Amino acid sequence: MKKYKLAVVGATGVVGQTALKVLEEKNLPISEYAFFSSKRSAGKTIHFLGKDYTVRELTDSSFDEGFDYAIFSAGGTTSKHFSPIAASKGCIVVDNSSAFRMDPEVPLVVPEVNPEEIPNNKGIIANPNCSTIQAVVALKPLDDKYKIKRIVYSTYQAVSGAGHNGIVDLETGIQNYIDPEHTPNDLVKFPYPIFNNCLPHIDVFLENKYTKEEEKMINETRKILKRPDMRITATTVRVPVFNSHSESINVEFEKDFDLDELIQILRNAPGVIVVDDEKHTQYPLATQASGHDEVYVGRIRRDESVDSGVNLWVVADNIRKGAASNAIQIVEKMIEQDQ
Ligand code: NAP
Repeated sequence: MKKYKLAVVGATGVVGQTALKVLEEKNLPISEYAFFSSKRSAGKTIHFLGKDYTVRELTDSSFDEGFDYAIFSAGGTTSKHFSPIAASKGCIVVDNSSAFRMDPEVPLVVPEVNPEEIPNNKGIIANPNCSTIQAVVALKPLDDKYKIKRIVYSTYQAVSGAGHNGIVDLETGIQNYIDPEHTPNDLVKFPYPIFNNCLPHIDVFLENKYTKEEEKMINETRKILKRPDMRITATTVRVPVFNSHSESINVEFEKDFDLDELIQILRNAPGVIVVDDEKHTQYPLATQASGHDEVYVGRIRRDESVDSGVNLWVVADNIRKGAASNAIQIVEKMIEQDQ
């Protein structure tokens, strides 16, 4: 079997560390790994698959040694500079940042939804925003069957989605609450305490009063589902949960549907687990989704205010399916297609 050379950029971050965990679980045919970070973490040791690796500083010459694939999770500025360099040296980059997602030349891929886009890459494939990935895994089979007319997204997003500093802010808030004598630590990520608050503000505000996270969900859903004119609105909210994003998704369809049939379609959908049994108090929870790659769907009920609509509660691990695992599944597909 052919073996490959893989680089992980941003290996010391929240997504990068989870990528290493997922790679250890998957045992892909990779013969050489290299782990990159900024100067700050260069020199640190990473224990991976029974070996010690030294983290290396990412430089313009890092890709001279001929990598087949690279997973980038190091922010948009790093991706914008280094991904084209890697691609020019024959490496295919799967990029977790938002730098290339809306570039018409760059496929935006969720393997359960649009794997056919993978071969259209010119050296860079974009991994969608975490909140978009879990939504489209649930929505694609419903769009195929009933044709979506309109979507209303309301999200409840975990602090891990804001990287290491987001986690620190929630930990600080908890510490300050349980120990009032303790001198409160400064916030390092959010503009207000995330502990005991819901912040309707993820990423920057735009001219039209939406946030960039909301705009990402709208535009990325349209691109992935190949429905450029789909009517979508979104409110994205950061909540005091450590990991896994929850989403309320209200969908209106062109065609009528039978609720039992719709639930069965979701049960059969790739990457979806239906947890929907109100009689036994069963619905998807962030704590249950954490550590898994599936998208959990529940609270499936007809929206009685429109002719053909449904409400869904969709939960997934934002660091795994929303970032690391999705990127590695893309690499896995490329390896399968190359064997
Ligand atoms: P994070 O915990 O802050 O980690 C950032 C990583 O990037 C660290 O390894 C850091 O290295 C590295 N880095 C920063 N500047 C660099 C540079 N100039 N050259 C090389 N490496 C550099 O952030 P994160 O949450 O893992 O997010 C990483 C990326 O994934 C972001 O683009 C984010 O938007 C995206 N993403 C995150 C999520 C999520 O749920 N967290 C979901 C989807 C996508 P040092 O250790 O040296 O600082």
